[in-house]
Amino acid sequence: SVALTAAALPAIRAASVPGYDRAAVRPGIVHFGVGGFHRAHQAVYVDRLLAAGPEAAGWGICGVGLRPADAAMRDALVPQGGLYTVTLKHPDGAVETAVVGSIVDYLYAPDDPEAVLERLASPETRIVSLTITEGGYNFSATTGDFDAENPDVRHDLEPDAAPRTVFGYVTEALRRRRARGVPAFTVMSCDNIEGNGHVARRTFTAFARLADPALAAWIEESVRFPNSMVDRITPATPGALRGEVAARTGVDDRWPVVAEPYTQWVLEDDFGSGRPRFEDAGVQVVDDVAPYELMKLRLLNAGHQALGHFARLLGYEFVHDAAADPDVHELVRRYMQDEGRPTLRPVPGIDLDDYIDTLLERFSNPAIADTVARLCQDASDRIPKWLVPVIAARLDDGATAPLAAAVVAAWTRGCEGADDAGAPIVLNDRHASGLAERAARSRTEPLAFVDVPDLFGDLAHRPGFAEPYLAALTSLRERGARATVRALLGG
Ligand code: NAD
Repeated sequence: SVALTAAALPAIRAASVPGYDRAAVRPGIVHFGVGGFHRAHQAVYVDRLLAAGPEAAGWGICGVGLRPADAAMRDALVPQGGLYTVTLKHPDGAVETAVVGSIVDYLYAPDDPEAVLERLASPETRIVSLTITEGGYNFSATTGDFDAENPDVRHDLEPDAAPRTVFGYVTEALRRRRARGVPAFTVMSCDNIEGNGHVARRTFTAFARLADPALAAWIEESVRFPNSMVDRITPATPGALRGEVAARTGVDDRWPVVAEPYTQWVLEDDFGSGRPRFEDAGVQVVDDVAPYELMKLRLLNAGHQALGHFARLLGYEFVHDAAADPDVHELVRRYMQDEGRPTLRPVPGIDLDDYIDTLLERFSNPAIADTVARLCQDASDRIPKWLVPVIAARLDDGATAPLAAAVVAAWTRGCEGADDAGAPIVLNDRHASGLAERAARSRTEPLAFVDVPDLFGDLAHRPGFAEPYLAALTSLRERGARATVRALLGG
């Protein structure tokens, strides 16, 4: 195989390649957090627009990485001129690979912070998009308050500090734009957070207020923060993918992406400085994203949590194997139908029975080999944003959510550090030590794991949650996950 570069494109087999003139594409979008998901989702939509004609040529993407782990993305993408492959794997075994050309530049910020600031300040930049993970917004899920004590945030608030956080970069760039009379860009969050645009508005303006109140007022007036719902299951790149892609296409991509064929993007039409015609690439551009995102977060994302925490105790490595386990399958289906779904608003144009069936099929796709470990990682950022709101909404309605409460119990049990067969569980979570400590303590202080307002609000003090949670936790410890799931489903 040959290295993936522009020169290699004509010789590539069994993969589509960009047919447009990449040299004519300018980066109108700067994206923070170029990981698997951005490369399988937004960058693919933009690639389609670029392929459709020269009108979109001002909307190429400049990727930015802030964190030490992103040096590896620089080392993959820069030698490839931003090119990379996306491989879609269908449940029936069919495979399609495409070379994507929409990322035309990549900046690893610690190499040259000033280059990132000037790229952001450039009049050419009209959208700044984000997939910086749920934790990247640095706010409490329950109080909504921005965490000003975060050490990187404190560093970025020092006068003349070279920024470390996305807040530092975006705020300083907006300061320069305002001073130079350049209109503000739009900040487009594509993370899995309810009201992601509202959350971005709140956190970016909270940081700006701490840095410069007058600037914060300008930001509140001038910067738009559209909400969005994004969906395409994109596992971390498995080690074998690079060789697989090379064998099939003849090209060696240093960091390929694999994803499921299904993709959805619902986007609020709220852009201050223009946008590409995303709708031409299949994006649903709507006035109100809220019903779609609630559906997705409370069924898909919270459903993934329901599957993941039980599957981990049962010793499953892969999501599709767990989804094929009749007990797990039924638990997830019942969570979605009986607890998640009743908290939703009507979703225009969507049949929720079909949506739930499709989710269960997607979870069962063996080809993408998504892992239980990926679903369970960062649960302290995810359970509070995806599952806790369902439980709270059910209790507020005078209803119950015993399955969701049991998922929290399964998470608690997993944080004790071993599955039902005694195999160790390694917590991949920024709060891992606190979680493990509280899970251990919950053996003597039963509510210790959940009596944490930042993660669970007041749930620990609501009997409608605490009773089924404690019953499930006791059962998980005494009888194991299999018997507990069966009792929950039979009861
Ligand atoms: P990834 O690990 O491949 O990439 C994450 C990127 O975010 C990296 O570039 C990382 O450096 C950056 N990042 C992490 N914390 C950050 C911070 N505090 N500040 C700035 N940058 C930060 O993960 P991914 O699969 O690309 O997923 C990223 C996000 O995309 C998810 O957290 C989720 O919100 C959203 N998403 C993912 C999927 C999926 O299936 N993977 C689906 C829908 C939405």
